[in-house]
Amino acid sequence: MDSAEFRRVGHQIIDWIADYMDDVESWPIRPRVKPGEIMDKLPEAAPETPESMDDILRDFQDIVMPGITHWQHPLFMAYFPGISSPPAVLGEILASGIGVNGMMWETSPAVTELENRVLDWLRKASGLPEGFHGVIQDTASTSTLCAAIAGRDHALARNPGADVTKLAAYGSAEAHSSVEKAVRLAGLDPRNFRSIPVDETFAMRPEALREAIAADKARGLIPAFCVATLGTTAVGGFDDLKAIGPICDADHIWLHVDAAWAGSALILPEYRAFADGIEHARSLVVNPHKWLMTTLDCSVLYVRDVAAFTRAFTILPEYLKTPERGKVTDYRDWGIALGRRFRALKLWFVLRSYGLENLRDLIRGHIAMAQDLAARIASDPDFELLTGPRLALFSFRHRPPGLSEETLNRHNDALIAALNQSGEVYLTRITVGGRTAIRVSMGQVRLAPHHVDRAWTLIRKMARETMGQAAP
Ligand SMILES: *Cc1c(COP(=O)(O)O)cnc(C)c1O
Repeated sequence: MDSAEFRRVGHQIIDWIADYMDDVESWPIRPRVKPGEIMDKLPEAAPETPESMDDILRDFQDIVMPGITHWQHPLFMAYFPGISSPPAVLGEILASGIGVNGMMWETSPAVTELENRVLDWLRKASGLPEGFHGVIQDTASTSTLCAAIAGRDHALARNPGADVTKLAAYGSAEAHSSVEKAVRLAGLDPRNFRSIPVDETFAMRPEALREAIAADKARGLIPAFCVATLGTTAVGGFDDLKAIGPICDADHIWLHVDAAWAGSALILPEYRAFADGIEHARSLVVNPHKWLMTTLDCSVLYVRDVAAFTRAFTILPEYLKTPERGKVTDYRDWGIALGRRFRALKLWFVLRSYGLENLRDLIRGHIAMAQDLAARIASDPDFELLTGPRLALFSFRHRPPGLSEETLNRHNDALIAALNQSGEVYLTRITVGGRTAIRVSMGQVRLAPHHVDRAWTLIRKMARETMGQAAP
């Protein structure tokens, strides 16, 4: 493709993206496709001869788009948001346009130095103490894996002669699945992962953590790694860092804080108290690709002791030695991969193009709208709020009078299936204390109060319509 053709198609694609952003609500949020349907429309082998960009784009429209779930649709209220925004998209385009690899300072000094600077901006904007140094990873799963690996090596360095099978790790029963996965991938014995019970607010019970640590020590294990979650995935529980921190400190346990979703709300001073005690954390993950308008992927990992963190990842073959080594940040020592995309660029674009004030207003708006919908649900006698709202997250169920718990579960299963099949709204099913619950998570660049009205109308309408299927 020559640059004239690149220019022609490139302009067309920008126009297409702008139209998509404007018209995203005209699509059903979830595609109506069966497994294999998209693949069947694609040839079994790559073409031997060139195809025109016009043909390729036509197939993108006709084959790919019908199989897309519209994460940017304002009524996408499933999982957690994966918010994109115009400045982030432009940053992505430029990052791939210059096609650089920021594996170390020398391979593009600006990639490293912009990342250093922007992550320090975000640290300050989030009220995090000095001494937290940031690195962008692809996902929170990777960030937590890196923390687990660092925690493992930190414990092994403190206990010469000990082997990895002796290490124990901790997370709450509500911790994300990536925590247990990280512990396994870091080479710890999965049997030495303790899932600590939570209290009625879904926060880890500190005394239960203390007991688990004591029991492990009594059987000759070495407590090494603990994950506290700020904003658990299902219901938005917040672990108490002020209580958990000192327990971890007493045994030199690497405390990692998973704030993948809720961490973006740290830019709001009025919510910051949920991170009190953060000074005990040795690492912290926040995903701007969830709630800070920065297109997937952009997960920020902050670490306090850079030397202790990078030790696990540092290997220095001849071909990677550079004259500036030691004087600069070489991010290849801060994670698993060598090659690194220029992810800081889109975050820089977002922070500058919105400004912190607008970012705060967006997140405040999401929280207010979630609380508004939760309040409407709570005040309707046929509905019941089951959890929250915590920030922009809550769960509820339809509870018409006279139905058994079992029937209510079946009815709410049918209700969420109907809502999700409608293509008009997308929600996630969870269970809360054995009850089927419908989880609502809000956060879209274009989410507005009329979307909340629409969601509430749909919920009530489908609740009525599915009632027939729930004969007691
Ligand atoms: C979403 C989420 C994760 C996983 O994030 P990825 O970036 O998709 O790996 C981990 N922890 C919590 C609390 C989350 O909400």
